[in-house]
Amino acid sequence: MNYPNLLSPLDLGFTTLRNRVVMGSMHTGLEDRARDTEKLAAYFAERARGGVGLIITGGYAPNRTGWLLPFAAEMRSGADTRRHRTITRAVHDEGAKIALQLLHAGRYAYHPLSVSASSIKAPINPFRPRALRDVSGTISDFVRAALLARDAGYDGVEIMGSEGYLLNQFLAPRTNKRKDGWGGTAEKRRRFPVEIVRRVREAVGTDFIIVYRISLADYVEEGQTWDEIVALATEIEAAGATLLNTGIGWHESRVPTIVTSVPSGAFVATSSALAEHVHIPVVASNRINMPQAAEQILADTQVQLISMARPLLSDPDWVRKAAEDAADQINTCIACNQACLDHAFVHKTVSCLLNPRAGHETVLNLGPTRSARSVAVVGAGPAGLSAAVSAAQRGHRVTLFESGSAIGGQFDLARRIPGKEEFNETLRYYTRMLEVHAVDVRLGVRASVDDLTAFDDVVLATGVTPRLPDIPGIDHPMVLSYAEALSGQHVGTRVAVIGAGGIGFDVSEFLVNEESPTLNVKEWKAEWGALDPQDAPSVRGSLATPIVLPAAREVYLLQRTTGAQGKGLGKTSGWVHRASLKAKGVQQLSGVNYERIDDDGLHISFGKDHSDARVLTVDNVVVCAGQESVRDLEDLLRARGVEPYVIGGAAVAAELDAKRAIRQGTELAARL
Ligand code: NAP
Ligand code: SF4
Repeated sequence: MNYPNLLSPLDLGFTTLRNRVVMGSMHTGLEDRARDTEKLAAYFAERARGGVGLIITGGYAPNRTGWLLPFAAEMRSGADTRRHRTITRAVHDEGAKIALQLLHAGRYAYHPLSVSASSIKAPINPFRPRALRDVSGTISDFVRAALLARDAGYDGVEIMGSEGYLLNQFLAPRTNKRKDGWGGTAEKRRRFPVEIVRRVREAVGTDFIIVYRISLADYVEEGQTWDEIVALATEIEAAGATLLNTGIGWHESRVPTIVTSVPSGAFVATSSALAEHVHIPVVASNRINMPQAAEQILADTQVQLISMARPLLSDPDWVRKAAEDAADQINTCIACNQACLDHAFVHKTVSCLLNPRAGHETVLNLGPTRSARSVAVVGAGPAGLSAAVSAAQRGHRVTLFESGSAIGGQFDLARRIPGKEEFNETLRYYTRMLEVHAVDVRLGVRASVDDLTAFDDVVLATGVTPRLPDIPGIDHPMVLSYAEALSGQHVGTRVAVIGAGGIGFDVSEFLVNEESPTLNVKEWKAEWGALDPQDAPSVRGSLATPIVLPAAREVYLLQRTTGAQGKGLGKTSGWVHRASLKAKGVQQLSGVNYERIDDDGLHISFGKDHSDARVLTVDNVVVCAGQESVRDLEDLLRARGVEPYVIGGAAVAAELDAKRAIRQGTELAARL
């Protein structure tokens, strides 16, 4: 059998999980409105059909103060229960188990009713919470919600005790300054979550899964110590939990825990260390996205289950493909957060950059076509690849023209950025899917109008070309495009980067790190000041002083706009890029006028009066000043009576964006 550990069942005594894959909780936004229940059921059913063992829903509040947002998802009444039966039935019909996550947002609630252990505002939320008065009543609300979940057909509940939500707020001295029976000592701080588990177990009986999600490392000042976390785990077990799921860091932590640059399986050793202290199975999570890695973890450590949320968004058939020895067909999550968590934080329905069907299963249908057509796709960047693969998957005869020697377009550049190595997986996925769906791939071929008129449909995904700003001396030999800088051209030790958008940040990251920049887990944790809690059991919050490796180059990152740089970066990943460049000493200059480039370097000034003239004595200037669309074939085709579809950067360069490109390619293929 492939992956014998990963695919083996887990007997929980009263019920059996069919394998070791848990779909971790991800709030999709579909939980919040009753009218989206069918969509949510379809979303979960697709993952259940794909083979996952246990699904955990997004968070449902046990009472109103616990809402994430005003009127957000809750489990409080019989009406809620009836609605949920659609979901549990759909999942059970596909052979998976499903648990409802009970999440009280505490001081992360984005509304004025919020409560916490003490009245201390979170740095990431404008609402100041009240100190929770009716602790016993809140415990009863958790019990009621668990009973309702059982009535709705759920196999269990997950009690959310990590990521800095209410239970975690009670556990840490950072947020719990109480002097009553629920604070003051570690024992009293943990009474609240332990009582919740104990009372829920008492109410639901012995044949119902209770998962407790425990924070393994808070990564905030005045967070818990490892000794306290271990004591909590043993008490939670004694109170009746079936499984311990693991969470890392609070939402306000300044240690990245899930973005692309976090090394694979970075926190598994801590999950395993916890497993040595309890008898119930421990679930590992965070940055595990391929079957081989998951199998290795189960074989080599004490953990018994693997939780993945985003990897099952990007590929609902992840488990089935692993079982069929087709892991090379998995659309691997690249941890970009662009269409999942970044959507969640702006209250848009969660989807996936790589799989736009996620969250839209009922409307974006890629079923077989009834009339196969011949389709030419020009350009093998993200837009062209998604259009070609999706159209071919539907049964169309697809030819993909690419003038370059490799597929990938902007992804082929992105994968060279330190911490974005996983973009290679996307190229591996598309390479394989082009084969599986028998797309005729013509690399190194610039499609002519004559070539294209022979097809029923023509899709122009010809992408972009870097913009060359109008600066005197821009043709100086020291000037490089970002593509040249990332493609191995020699870059000196002092560099000015023109343009501080996503690519300017990425290129700066590339320049300050050595040529082979991949940090091992230890070096990476040292750079972010993140301790392995089990190695420093009495350190609060598991934080240390960061030890940053010296920058490989001296870099100036420049923009004409005044104010802070990187405002357009992703909500959940932008702060990591900003902090990382700051730590490496990149000098960020805003409000810059580019005067000229000559042998002395880059001449700049500031403000409308061009005052404060300076020369940046650099070896190279790298231009990251945005892009312009390439669509020279469009008019030529129209002149021959062919109306092409234009997608991706070729359609709009201004917001060049792989999420939009892949969505457009997929949606177009669904319509053909
Ligand atoms: P961008 O984000 O639009 O940034 C272009 C930069 O060039 C801006 O900082 C702009 O700043 C400057 N610029 C524009 N016209 C200029 C001119 N004529 N002369 C000098 N400077 C000029 O574009 P990008 O960096 O190419 O990124 C493209 C897209 O890729 C982004 O929209 C993003 O979605 C995606 N991306 C994101 C990330 C990430 O989040 N980490 C990474 C890579 C790519 P001023 O006008 O202020 O000078
Ligand atoms: Fe993964 Fe990015 Fe898709 Fe989110 S949007 S599931 S992080 S690939």
